Amino acid sequence: MVDLQAVLDSIYKELTPRIGEGKVADYIPELAKIDPNQFGMAVVTVDGKVYRAGDADVPFSIQSISKVFMLTLALGKVGEGLWKRVGREPSGSAFNSIVQLEHEHGIPRNPFINAGAIAVTDVVMAGHAPREAIGELLRFVRYLADDESVTIDEKVARSETQTGYRNFALANFMRAYKNIDHPVEHVLGVYFHQCALSMSCEQLARAGLFLAARGSNPMTGHSVVSPKRARRINALMLTCGHYDGSGDFAYHVGLPGKSGVGGGIFAVAPGVASIAAWSPGLNKVGNSQLGAVALEMLAARTGWSVFGD
Ligand code: GLU
Repeated sequence: MVDLQAVLDSIYKELTPRIGEGKVADYIPELAKIDPNQFGMAVVTVDGKVYRAGDADVPFSIQSISKVFMLTLALGKVGEGLWKRVGREPSGSAFNSIVQLEHEHGIPRNPFINAGAIAVTDVVMAGHAPREAIGELLRFVRYLADDESVTIDEKVARSETQTGYRNFALANFMRAYKNIDHPVEHVLGVYFHQCALSMSCEQLARAGLFLAARGSNPMTGHSVVSPKRARRINALMLTCGHYDGSGDFAYHVGLPGKSGVGGGIFAVAPGVASIAAWSPGLNKVGNSQLGAVALEMLAARTGWSVFGD
């Protein structure tokens, strides 16, 4: 067994001169204010050990990583029926692309592009007022992380509500195809709040541990989903978790993962560990530049790629 703390320390040391690389997301004004000179990483193993490096305890905007938690909730509510509303294929397009939606009659390619995630949020809202759906997600994530201090950054949610024109376009488009049941402002109100969840690398790695451990969190004993469902969520993250950078992430890292424009990447080594890396500077396809490099180094040094060591 490799010395994981030594691996994280060496990654942190080697990447320190590069901290600040990439471009912070600026289309959400509140995210544009983030200091790019930050980098953190946390690994939680299925036997309950926690390893950290750099700014592993600093909360950041998890943005699209929240789509994994919302997908888990939606599958819990409607099961496989969800796949009538959203597909399971990689998109090959940008996270906020609208072109494919028209070709495919308002059914988004997968639950991790924005359109797909908005449809998933609409599913979770059934029978709830928007405020209740936000509360349900927050409670769920706190339960997963076993940490009541996880919060939603209202400023980030408000900032995106004021400027999220493309997401309004996507949601209106799907509503026209009857793939959104609730008023668009309500659905996006929930979606922007889920994206504004604020979590540290350690909280994120703890919250996602169930996906590395056949659906149950070995640290809390909480059973979250069946082993089959955990396997399938991991399959979706592997194929669709990084937008049009998904193939490249599989090639370089080889782990199921989900990125967010806040600069976080959550990844799973099935049966072994859950991992979170964060650095706000993004690469051209909107994924954390150093986060992806750090995960590539981790996978290479541990032999954790799902494609073999
Ligand atoms: N809230 C962001 C948006 O909808 C999420 C995108 C991302 O993290 O990739 O634009």
